[in-house]
This record gives sequence, structure tokens and C-alpha cells, in this order.
Amino acid sequence: MSRVYNFSAGPSMLPEAVLKKAAAEMLDYEGSGQSVMEMSHRSKIYDSIIKGAEALLRELMNIPDNYKVLFLQGGASTQFAAIPLNFMNGSGKADYVLTGQWAKKAYAEAQKYGEAKAVASSADKTFSYIPKLNKADFTPDADYFYICMNNTIYGTVYHELPDTGDVPLIADISSCFLSEPIDVSRFGMVYGGAQKNVAPAGLTICIIREDLLGKARDITPTMLNYQVHADNDSLYNTPPCYTIYICKLVLEWLKENGGLEAMKERNEKKAKLLYDFLDNSKMFRGTVVPEDRSLMNVPFVTDSDELNAKFVKEAEASGLINLKGHRTVGGMRASIYNAMPYEGVKALVDFMAEFEKANS
Ligand SMILES: *Cc1c(COP(=O)(O)O)cnc(C)c1O
Repeated sequence: MSRVYNFSAGPSMLPEAVLKKAAAEMLDYEGSGQSVMEMSHRSKIYDSIIKGAEALLRELMNIPDNYKVLFLQGGASTQFAAIPLNFMNGSGKADYVLTGQWAKKAYAEAQKYGEAKAVASSADKTFSYIPKLNKADFTPDADYFYICMNNTIYGTVYHELPDTGDVPLIADISSCFLSEPIDVSRFGMVYGGAQKNVAPAGLTICIIREDLLGKARDITPTMLNYQVHADNDSLYNTPPCYTIYICKLVLEWLKENGGLEAMKERNEKKAKLLYDFLDNSKMFRGTVVPEDRSLMNVPFVTDSDELNAKFVKEAEASGLINLKGHRTVGGMRASIYNAMPYEGVKALVDFMAEFEKANS
């Protein structure tokens, strides 16, 4: 068996140790005589999995007690509607910063439900930077202020959070979940799809400050009402049981490997290797301004579409897969989430150096 280095933006690589453990437990989970796939979500044995996952997440992210952790379905995209339905019910206003497609989609959804305002945008330069924010533009009585923390497609990240005062800050952290420590207490809510950095597809994790719950509009579908899921410990209906189990294994792996501080160090070392190469290459260059570069998603280009295509094709033949960039940026993108080992980034950089030599 030979495994490739998968640079996909999501679904993406999982730690090999996690896959092996899941394989070993596939037919008989801890002597229960069943696979986790076959278990009742209301059984005692499954309860220890979902509760265990929550406890580990709370420990790793240092989540304060006044926050609820919800394990939901529907992807990050479903939350684009759930967020205004649950929270845009005071002034009916909310501020959005447009830093890419995911923020734009969330903004468009919120416009259906109330007065969503775009307070800044980096669309003028293909979202290659995080726009500077001017507090005078913020809506003082907004129900919340929304950002997409790490922009998966464009490769930017907020290194500093906006100061929104008493207005709750809500962040989509899909593509930087668990990649480094964050101060959850700075947010009203953080959430993300699990398939980038936490688990396989099918699970969305929402972490919500308790005092923001219970304000959903009457028309909110029951399944989109966060209070309903909070009241039922994420067991209002059948949760994505197996994905939550893999999530638990990933969290155990994170803990065994030093937690989020250690992950940050690892991720910085990986990203530095790639960015340093890009900064010194005559053929390849990164597309993001250096001060806003993401640790997780690294878009880069050559000056020729033909060379880009050749690179992606030849990389794939060398076991470096899914390097084609998003269609709106072109070129290449390497997603180097937690599960991508240093050796994978090293293999990529070595391949880029060889390619540059052979084609210039
Ligand atoms: C992938 C992604 C999404 C969409 O996630 P789904 O789970 O497919 O709905 C939203 N936001 C960000 C930042 C993403 O990376």
C-alpha cells in the first residue's frame, strides 16, 4: 500500500494513526460486538463517544463553561442561514466582512432575513488580503458581527480579531479549526464544517455563548434552532454518529501530540518551508500579501496557465495530489492541515524545485 500526500482543501487528509485505529475497531468497538456505525445513538456506549468527544474538544480549545458545543449536520453552509435566523432578532441588523466566497455566501443568506451590511471587502484584489476595518463603519446596535476567519479558497487569515465591543463576534473557522489555540471567549460563536481539519464530512461543530441562545425567530425551522440542539445535547435527532466517533479519535490524536500549542508550532514550521520557497523562487509566487497569509491554505501561481497545468499533472503522478487551485484564483493551492506531515510539505517543495529547474 502506498499513500499519497493529499493537498485537498476538503475533505482532506486524516492522521494515519486515526485511520488505523478506526480500521482496527471497525467490526468490534471495545468489545461491544458492533461497529460504531451500527450503534443506537441513544445507547450507553455511544453516549460515552459523543460525551467524550465534547469533553476533549472543551479541553483542547479551552472552551469556557458558558459556551454550548453542538454536533450538527448540514455543513458550514447551513449555518449561513441558521445564524441570522437564531441571532438577527434584536435590531435585525448584522455586519459582515467580505473576504471571499464563503463570507459572501453567508452575507447573501443573511440579507434574506434582515439588514446585513458589508462593512469591508477585499474583492477589489481577488480577496488576496484582509481588509482594514474602520470602527466608524460598524453598526453600533448590530445583533452580531460576522467574519470568515481563515479563507480557504484565497489563503488569507485574520491574525488580529476585529474589536466589536459588545456586539458578539461570529466566526466561520471551518479551515482553521484546531490548527492553533484561539481565545473562544472573544467570540459569541465559532463554527465550522469538520471535513477540513477535524473529521470526515458530515459533521458541523458550533460553539455558542449561552446567553445568545433562545432568541431565534418564530419561523426558524426546528432543525436550525440552536436552542433545540443545545437542550437535547445534540441528540434531538440522529447525529452523524460515525463522524463524531472519528472526530473523537482525531481529538485524542491531537492531545497525544501536544495539543493546539504543539499543532501551531508544527503548522508554522510547515507553512514557513513552503512560503520561504515561494519567496525565493523565480517561477512560483504566492498570491496573498505576506502579512495575511494563512497557515492552512497556500495558493500559488506561475506566470503561465500552461506551466500551472503541467505542474499539477506531474505533481499528481509523483503522489502529490489535489494541488489545482480554485477556479476563481487559478494556479495551485496546497492545503496543509494538521494531518499533513512535515515530510509531505518537504516532498512538495522538493518537487517544485525540481520542476523549476527542468522548466526554466
Ligand atoms: C469548506 C468551507 C465552507 C463550506 O463548508 P460545507 O461544510 O461544505 O458547507 C464554509 N466556510 C469555509 C471557511 C470553508 O472552508
